[in-house]
Amino acid sequence: MCLFCKIVNKEIPANIVLENENFLAFHDINPKAPVHVLVIPKLHVDSFNEVTGETMAGMTTFIQELAKELAIDTNGYRVITNVGENGGQEVKHLHYHVLGGAKLKWGHFSDADPKDYL
Ligand code: 5GP
Ligand code: ZN
Repeated sequence: MCLFCKIVNKEIPANIVLENENFLAFHDINPKAPVHVLVIPKLHVDSFNEVTGETMAGMTTFIQELAKELAIDTNGYRVITNVGENGGQEVKHLHYHVLGGAKLKWGHFSDADPKDYL
């Protein structure tokens, strides 16, 4: 069973922010912003490559609700999912990073300069 499935099953503790029947949101153990929450589907999906439109529809509503709960909806926030090797995905259970609480720099998550690959 993967790490995030163990969090869903409460085998590994997590600091949970919001939960419903299908999704779970919990604080990242190594936050990259004042607010850094991970959102996962409770049913295991490897990555964005495999997720269905139906799951994404529920995920969208859940993240919108989460942003209100965290009081970051008005000032803004960032939603990121890393996919596979080049995307830098370390945990192979689909998750969205929800980052906020400060004006975020853009460079951190896009630090491969296209000029270096021409
Ligand atoms: P990825 O690099 O796969 O997009 O993101 C994985 C994220 O999971 C990282 O930001 C990392 O800090 C977080 N993470 C890894 N292990 C744990 C854990 O056991 N608990 C929590 N809450 N976050 C974790
Ligand atoms: Zn899993």
